[in-house]
Amino acid sequence: MHELSIAQSLLALIEDEMAKHGKDTLVTVKVRHGRLSAIVPEALDMAFTALTMDTRLATARLVLEENPVVLRCRACGREFSPQGKSAFAPCPACGEELGHTVLSGRELYIEYLELE
Ligand SMILES: [Zn+2]
Repeated sequence: MHELSIAQSLLALIEDEMAKHGKDTLVTVKVRHGRLSAIVPEALDMAFTALTMDTRLATARLVLEENPVVLRCRACGREFSPQGKSAFAPCPACGEELGHTVLSGRELYIEYLELE
C-alpha cells in the first residue's frame, strides 16, 4: 500500500522534528497533499493510525488538506485550476489542452506540527 510508505516517511520527519525541539508529544500534524499526488486521505489516515498505535504518537491528530491543481497554459501563460484530477484540461483563455506546466497539485508536505 502506497499510503503506508508515505505515512512511514512522514513519521520519520515528525520524529526528527520532535528530537530537534526536545518535545515528547505530538498533538497535531497537518499534511497538505496536491490533488494530483494520488493520495487517498482515508488510506493515509488508516496507515498513520496503524503505525502510531501503541507508540507515544498514538494520541496525535492527523489533519489532511488537499491543494488544488494549478496549471500554467503552455500557449498563453494563463494560470488556472481545472476541475477533476487531471493535468490535461483546456485553458479557459485560449483552449490549449496539452503541455501545461503543473504549478501546484503534485506536492505532499507537512504544513505544521503542534508539539508539546
Ligand atoms: Zn491558454
